[in-house]
Amino acid sequence: MNQYLREMIELSKIDNAITEFEPKIEKANKEYEAVANRRIAITESIANLENRKNQIFQDIAGYEKSLAKLQQEEKEHQKKIQMAKNERELENLKLEKEQILTPQIENLNEAIAQLNKELEHIEEQLAKKEQELQEFQKEFGEYERDLVLKLEELKNQQKELSQERNQLVSQMDSKIFSFYQRIRRWAKETTAVPVRDQACYGCFMKLSNQVYLEVIKGEEIVTCPNCGRLVYLESHLEEE
Ligand SMILES: [Zn+2]
Repeated sequence: MNQYLREMIELSKIDNAITEFEPKIEKANKEYEAVANRRIAITESIANLENRKNQIFQDIAGYEKSLAKLQQEEKEHQKKIQMAKNERELENLKLEKEQILTPQIENLNEAIAQLNKELEHIEEQLAKKEQELQEFQKEFGEYERDLVLKLEELKNQQKELSQERNQLVSQMDSKIFSFYQRIRRWAKETTAVPVRDQACYGCFMKLSNQVYLEVIKGEEIVTCPNCGRLVYLESHLEEE
């Protein structure tokens, strides 16, 4: 069999195999993404809740600092009240306490109480999400790992084929390679097709006796006169 033709047939088989991997990888990828997205959604919820929790801790710490300061002021104010020199000063100090200090302290206590309440709610939600994550891992963890392995294996196999392809292309005559590519562009996976019962298995037209003889001799590169695909006898492929 013509060496160039043999190389092109070999290349078309590799290209076909590579093409077949695409939908498999795409399908595996979709399966993986569906399960991974579910897990990511849960872990993101947990992260958001944790962030809010930390923010609340910081806010509470800040409010408590302000509260301690106000309580100190209140103490000092109380001393002033006890040491008031006259009725008017006493009234003013009392009013100041009533209208400014006490409401400020109350507001802060209220704010801290609110935050603690929210914290409780967040802890509840966190526990729920943690539980959800555990259940998810139990149910789908192994499935997700299997999908990752499957995807990796498919990609590795495809990579190996690509390396095999590069190896073959590098040793091919560049004109032969361009010739192959021109047919491949439109004929795709039927770039090289066998001849059976004197018919081209790309367009299923019968070959003339003359063309068929060329195919049988196998000394030249033969293309189907009707469709332009590379044609060959399967029995020639098995020969060295
Ligand atoms: Zn044909």
